[in-house]
Amino acid sequence: MPRVLVFALDGCSYSVFNHLKNLSPFFKEIADNFRHGEMTTVAPATTAIGWPAFYTGKNPGKTGNFRREQGSGLLSAFSKSRNGVDGDSLWDILTKEGMKSVVFNMPITYPATELSGVLVSSFDSGSNWIYPEHFKEDVAKIWTPQESPPESRGEFFTYWWNRIEAEYKVASAILKGGEWDLGIITFLALDRMQHKLMNSDDPLNAMMVIEIYKKIARACKELWDEHKDAEVVIVTDHGMRSTNAGFYLNSYFWKMGWLKIPPLGEKMLNNYRKTECSLVNTVFENSTVWSPGLGSIVLEDQSLRKEIILFLKEYIDPLYDRPVFDDVLPREEVWSGKYLNQMPDLLAMPAPGYEVHWTLITTSLMAMNTYTDHSLRNGLYAVSGLSPEEKPAHVLDIAPTILNILGVKVPSDFDRRGLK
Ligand SMILES: [Zn+2]
Repeated sequence: MPRVLVFALDGCSYSVFNHLKNLSPFFKEIADNFRHGEMTTVAPATTAIGWPAFYTGKNPGKTGNFRREQGSGLLSAFSKSRNGVDGDSLWDILTKEGMKSVVFNMPITYPATELSGVLVSSFDSGSNWIYPEHFKEDVAKIWTPQESPPESRGEFFTYWWNRIEAEYKVASAILKGGEWDLGIITFLALDRMQHKLMNSDDPLNAMMVIEIYKKIARACKELWDEHKDAEVVIVTDHGMRSTNAGFYLNSYFWKMGWLKIPPLGEKMLNNYRKTECSLVNTVFENSTVWSPGLGSIVLEDQSLRKEIILFLKEYIDPLYDRPVFDDVLPREEVWSGKYLNQMPDLLAMPAPGYEVHWTLITTSLMAMNTYTDHSLRNGLYAVSGLSPEEKPAHVLDIAPTILNILGVKVPSDFDRRGLK
């Protein structure tokens, strides 16, 4: 049975891949010889929702990682821990089949849980970031997951450049160090570089982003060369795009009198401006409508549903004279599964060029961008070993495709059955 080597490229955009495919030998090989194309991710497009959908083969309505906290009635925008993702991962499934996995740097895998193989988890890492424990010392010599990057552009670039190098070294050592059927190697740099540098006309920013794409492509190619017998899969959690302006959902709800804020001193308002999370947990006791983030809307009063949908769908950006939202969808049109009735009631999908915020940073509804939250639902996927053609796919196609290649039965509760 073939082995599968997965390159998980956080924030890799299909459009950028398309521009670069003749500049990078690895990308050229994908374009010529792999099944590949534009890959839609689950909504809302963000790292903490996209990766669990990939590794469980299920949408958030089944995994429960985007729902109201039980008991409190509040809603976290998403779960940042593996404990908040219900259901088996690909490596849990393989462990039960007596097969081995190497999982490196994948978001929302903390705390690292027992598996047959090795798991090194990504950010939000505390003490349990690696399984089995005895790998810790070796890995820690080249890998420090808690380190945070410097602010200035040049140093930020150098940090991520060096980090790709370190990620490659750890991944290479673990993959060479033991047997595995499934290897998943994640590179986070594209997400971070594009968040920081994409919203700018400065050509140096674009060059830095392109150099990071090419460096990651070289690292993937080297890892593949070290394990030429493996089939290769590329998957992303979401793509990225630049945006011009943001819409403040909670400012709208506040102006309408639906979102209640305790009597505010200027000091308190400043605190809300600083941290989006504090808003989620302190404000909403007597509110009938609020957004806990990522375009999601919670309705305590269902009679407001129509009015809100209509207002947002018809809202025209006064600066650019364009609609701000592509659509505002009820939850049952976005997700499915046993957690559906604990999920946000509506999801507002911003049009190209717009992002949607949940801070109360401004009393006006729109502002030029202040925060680069410009994730896009379209990323890149690629699979060797299937007929080479360009064809769109969905992130939920990828896990069953991997199981099909490994000869493992796709569980009945997966959303999809795999690419043919
Ligand atoms: Zn991401």
